[in-house]
Amino acid sequence: MRKVDAPRHDPIPIGEVSAPPFCKLPNPLILFAERTQRLRMLAQSSELAPYLLFLSRLTEAQYRIQDDLPLPAMPGKDAMARAREYRMPPLDRGRFTTDAAFDETLERLLWLAREFEMPPTAANALERVIAQDAGARQAMIDALLADSVPVEALAEHVFVAAALQVQFARLAARLDAKTLVPVGDGACPACGGPLVASTVVGWKGAHGSRFCACALCGTLWNYVRIKCTLCGSTNGIGYQEIEGGAGTVKAETCDECHRYVKILQQQKDAALEPLADDVASLGLDLLMRELGYRRGAFNPFLLGY
Ligand SMILES: [Zn+2]
Ligand SMILES: [Zn+2]
Repeated sequence: MRKVDAPRHDPIPIGEVSAPPFCKLPNPLILFAERTQRLRMLAQSSELAPYLLFLSRLTEAQYRIQDDLPLPAMPGKDAMARAREYRMPPLDRGRFTTDAAFDETLERLLWLAREFEMPPTAANALERVIAQDAGARQAMIDALLADSVPVEALAEHVFVAAALQVQFARLAARLDAKTLVPVGDGACPACGGPLVASTVVGWKGAHGSRFCACALCGTLWNYVRIKCTLCGSTNGIGYQEIEGGAGTVKAETCDECHRYVKILQQQKDAALEPLADDVASLGLDLLMRELGYRRGAFNPFLLGY
C-alpha cells in the first residue's frame, strides 16, 4: 500500500509572501468562460448592451469550439531557446503561420456564429468572411497581428480576431511560465502582442501587484505600478475616471507619450475582466479623447477608438 504523507503546514517565509510571479499563462477554457460571464453581467446595466451581448456569444463560442479541437503546432525547442536568449517572445505573432488547428478553429467559430443573434452589420460581415478566399483571409490575419485593421472592415475582423485569440491562448497555455522573460514595454512576453489593459490583482501572494493583460493570448505579465505600460516612463503618470465611477476602471495617462491604457482594480472587484471591461468602459475612451490622450491599448472588439 502506498503511504500518503499528511499535508504539511510550513509557515511561509515573510519575504516571499508578496513576490508576484513574472507572468501567469492563460487557461484557454477559463479565460473565455470568465470573459463570457463578465460580458453578460456588464450588459445588464450598459447602454452598450446589444454589442456586449453579441460579444458574449462570440466569447462563448471561443469557449465551446475547444472541445476536441486539434492542438496547435508549438515552435521547436531550439527556436524557443533562441527567442529567450534574444529576449523575443517564443510565440512571436509577427511570424505566425496558420496550421490545421487554426483553420479548424476559424471554421468552427464561423459556423457557430451563424447560429447566434447579431446585428445586421455583423451578420453581413460574417457572410463576407465565410465567402472569402485564402488570400483575403490571410490579409485579415496579417492586419490583426500588426494592429492595423482597416477601418472600413472592422466588423469582418472581429471573427478572425476571435479565432486568433483561441489559437494563441492555447499555444500560450502550453508554455512554461518560468522560461519567459521581459521582451519590452507594452509587449506580451509569450506572443509579443499588445496589452488590452492592466489590472491590480488580489491574488494570494501577489495582492496589490499589477499585471498587463495580453489582447491576443491572454497572458498576464507583472509590471510595476505608476509607470507607463507603453513607453516605460515613470514621469507624468496620472489617473482619470468617469465622474461618479466606482473607482475600479481608470485610465492611466502618460505625459511622456501622451497615451493612456486602462487600469482595473481586480483586488476590489474580482469579477473585472480586462477585455470585457475595456469594451464596456467606452465612455472613458471618449473622455480621454476630449482630454487629448491617444488610446494605447489594442482591443480587436473595440476598434475604431
Ligand atoms: Zn500574448
Ligand atoms: Zn508613456
